[in-house]
Amino acid sequence: MRILLVEDEPAVAAFLHRGLSEQGYAVDLAADGLLGLHRAQSVRYDCLILDQLLPGLSGLEVCRQVRALDAGVPILMLTALGETDDKIRGLDAGADDYLVKPFAFAELLARLRALVRRRAEAPAPAAAPLRLADLTLDPAAKRVERAGQAVQLTAREFALLEYLLRHQGRVVSRADLLEHVWELSFDTGSNVIDVYINFLRKKVDKDFDPKLIHTLVGMGYVMKIEN
Ligand code: CA
Repeated sequence: MRILLVEDEPAVAAFLHRGLSEQGYAVDLAADGLLGLHRAQSVRYDCLILDQLLPGLSGLEVCRQVRALDAGVPILMLTALGETDDKIRGLDAGADDYLVKPFAFAELLARLRALVRRRAEAPAPAAAPLRLADLTLDPAAKRVERAGQAVQLTAREFALLEYLLRHQGRVVSRADLLEHVWELSFDTGSNVIDVYINFLRKKVDKDFDPKLIHTLVGMGYVMKIEN
C-alpha cells in the first residue's frame, strides 16, 4: 500500500508519516500542492491524503486535477476548519471522504481502510484503453491488439492481461493474481497461473518485440518494456 501525503505543516506531516509507516504503509510526503500533484501524476498510489490549505496549489485544485486523470484513486481530504462549506467543496472536487483537524490517528486509519476497501470492491470502471508499447487492451470493447493485429484471448486470459496492464511497471505476485483474477484468496498449489502466463506469452509476446511480460523468480510478474 503506497500513500501520498500532501501536508505542509511539518509537525502534522511528521506525525502522520511516522504513524502510517508504523502501520506498514509506504508513505511519500509532499509539502506543497505543486509537488503533490507532480507526485500523484507520476506514481500510482493506493490512496491520497490531501490537506486542503496548501502552498503552491490548494488541496482542492490538486484533487480536481488528479481526478481528471484517475477516477479510481481514493482521496481523503484534511480540512482545518471543519466548516460545512469546506467539506462540500472537497467532495465536489472529487474527494471520497474528509477528516476535520484535529483528528485522532485511529480515525484516520479507519477512514483510510474503508476507502481502500471500497475501491477494491467497486466494479472495475469501463475505462479507456490500456497501452504498453504497441499492445492495446480495450476493456469496453474486449479487444486486444499487438502491433495493429487483433489478438484472440479467452475470457480468463483477457482478465489476466487486463490486471497485469493496469499494474504495469509493478511486480504482481501469484497471490495477487489468484485473488484478483481467479477470485481465490488462497494459493491452490496448482500451477494455473504459470500455465495462463504461458498462454498469454504465446499470443502477445512470442512473435513480437519488445517482450512485455517478464517473470521475476520468486516474486511474480511484471509488465514493462524490456530495454
Ligand atoms: Ca495546511
